[in-house]
Amino acid sequence: MAKQPNIVLMGVDSLLATHMSCYGYHRHTTPHIDKFAESGTLFEKTYSAHIPTTSAYASMLTGMDTFSTQVVALRHQGPLREEVKTLAEILKGVGYDTTCVGFGGPSARGFDTYLEFSGWGPDDTGRSPKAENLNKTTLPELNRLIDQSDEKPFFLFLRHMDPHSPYLPPAPYERMFYHGDECDPSNKSMEPVMSFKPFCDYFASWMPVGITDKDYVIAQYDGAIAYMDACIQTLFNALETRGVLDETIVIINGDHGETLYDHECWFDHHGLYDVTLHVPLIIRYPGRVPAGKRVSGYNQHKDLVPTLLELADIETDIAFDGDSLTPLISGEIASYDSEFYITECTWMRKHGWRTPEWKLIVALEPDFHFKPPVELYNIIQDPDENENLVETHPDIVNVLETRMKNWILQREKETGLPNPIMNQGDWHGHKGVGPFKSSEQAYDTMHIGNPGEAARLQAKSRDE
Ligand SMILES: [Zn+2]
Repeated sequence: MAKQPNIVLMGVDSLLATHMSCYGYHRHTTPHIDKFAESGTLFEKTYSAHIPTTSAYASMLTGMDTFSTQVVALRHQGPLREEVKTLAEILKGVGYDTTCVGFGGPSARGFDTYLEFSGWGPDDTGRSPKAENLNKTTLPELNRLIDQSDEKPFFLFLRHMDPHSPYLPPAPYERMFYHGDECDPSNKSMEPVMSFKPFCDYFASWMPVGITDKDYVIAQYDGAIAYMDACIQTLFNALETRGVLDETIVIINGDHGETLYDHECWFDHHGLYDVTLHVPLIIRYPGRVPAGKRVSGYNQHKDLVPTLLELADIETDIAFDGDSLTPLISGEIASYDSEFYITECTWMRKHGWRTPEWKLIVALEPDFHFKPPVELYNIIQDPDENENLVETHPDIVNVLETRMKNWILQREKETGLPNPIMNQGDWHGHKGVGPFKSSEQAYDTMHIGNPGEAARLQAKSRDE
């Protein structure tokens, strides 16, 4: 049997597809990834059905949905079910050398090697060169993997953190998309952000003192993408100069998107709006995956593992919930499920149903934004999902709710397992609190950031 291809999977955290130039963003944020996409296939409608991080990666890395993984919450308790195999376990089983960089949690099970990098807060300069830190950790390991790849193909999983807050790209990227005065006193756009008590101490720990302009923060997010894009080119170069790029399946995917100034979800990734559900997916593997192709059919995280196994000619007897994307690439099938079940369980516990025309969101308990318990959007006429149509379209709410409930019943029957979002106990991390009874309780209970630490950083920054 011919040697199997290497696999490099970049699972970028919090990357908005719509903020990448290859997905049509007006800023030129991803020149290197754009070029990479031209030599591979780009998927325009890939969705993260189960946000946020923990549940999304669980689906991306197993080929299963939330019913099979039973992982639905950010703060998932316990390991992944033994019956579910991770991509690392499958590949290791057929002789791959497997390395994971910068990722943990239930679906990180089964790698031979785990490496960490500093992918969070600022360094001594006040900026956070996350992707360069990732490269410093990854490049020696990549060379080791390539050195022995004649005997053993490798699987390298990289979890980039640059688009995840804090958005602190180093120079020149912090000014690449912003040339104004971020502390202009006449700008009031940051007032609602800084008065949102659950997050304001966290924001104060990394945003500039006196920040008034939301566009500065958005430009930091975009700058972080552009910075990461340049650093990713270093990885493409390393694969190319060692002569293994074309015998490696290289994938760029995202776990979920990001809510910047949208829906009052303030620079995070909660809310079942399309900004969090829509993720980038680009696959490059010359010979098997066409160059310059754009696929417009719907697909989800659960389809990635079956796709990679088919491209690598690896057979398993696992019955994945997802399907290989190769028939979508060839045009044999136009689309996979265009309507699907969606869940979130980080700051709010909600589920819903998305079709190409409609989005239904149903709260399972009151949320800390004081949002209505049911939301309905027409995503064709109102793609930004700003006008809740619950009152005017109760018939549509009923139809979507019925389809959602039927799907839940069907999946519970097929898996013999309960819908995990219904039994999450203290999903918010506050022991013994249980489901919130009111939005006030949720608002007063949940919080990130340390007020003392935030005050200290602000004072330090003022002294400088
Ligand atoms: Zn994430």
